[in-house]
Amino acid sequence: MTFTLAIVGRPNVGKSTLFNRLVGKKLALVDDRPGVTRDRREGEAHLGDLAFRIVDTAGLEEADAASLEGRMRAQTETAIGDADAILFIIDARVGLTPTDRAFAALVRRAAKPTILVANKSEGRGGEAGTLEAFALGLGTPIPLSAEHGEGLSDLYDAICDAL
Ligand code: GDP
Ligand code: MG
Repeated sequence: MTFTLAIVGRPNVGKSTLFNRLVGKKLALVDDRPGVTRDRREGEAHLGDLAFRIVDTAGLEEADAASLEGRMRAQTETAIGDADAILFIIDARVGLTPTDRAFAALVRRAAKPTILVANKSEGRGGEAGTLEAFALGLGTPIPLSAEHGEGLSDLYDAICDAL
C-alpha cells in the first residue's frame, strides 16, 4: 500500500528538515529565512518498514507580505487536497503563533487524518510549546526533533494509527 503525506505548517518550523530526514537526501532547501522553499517538493519517504510519498510545502522566497500569505495558503490547500494524511508541524520552542492557528484551521477543515508534530523538542526545550499545541484541536502533539532525529519512533506509531 502506498499513501501520500503532506507536511504542512508555517515557515521556519522545520518542515524541510523533516522532509530531508524522511527522504534521506537533501532534496528540500533548509534555511533560516522563513519561507525559503520555493516550490512544493515530493520524495519517497522511509520510516521503519513504512514507505510513502511525502510532499514538502512552503511559502515563497520574495513576495510582499500580503500576497505571500495568500500564495502560501493556496499551495498548502493544494497539497492538503492531494494528500491522504497531513503532518502538521509547529515549533515547540516558539509555541503557537497566529499563523499556526490559521494553518491549523485549514487543516481541520480538510477533515483528513492528521498527525500533529511539535518540532525542535530536543533537550526538553519544547515542553511548554508542546502543551500549547493541544489547543489546536488536532490531537495529541508528538514531540520531535527533525534536526537531531529524536521522536521518530513515536512519529512512526502516529502514522500507523492515522492510516
Ligand atoms: P521550514 O521553513 O518549515 O521548511 O523550516 P526548515 O526545515 O527550513 O528549518 C528552519 C530552521 O529551523 C532551520 O534553521 C533548521 O535548521 C531549524 N530546525 C529544523 N528542525 C529543527 C529541530 O528539530 N531543532 C532545532 N533546534 N532546529 C531545527
Ligand atoms: Mg521549507
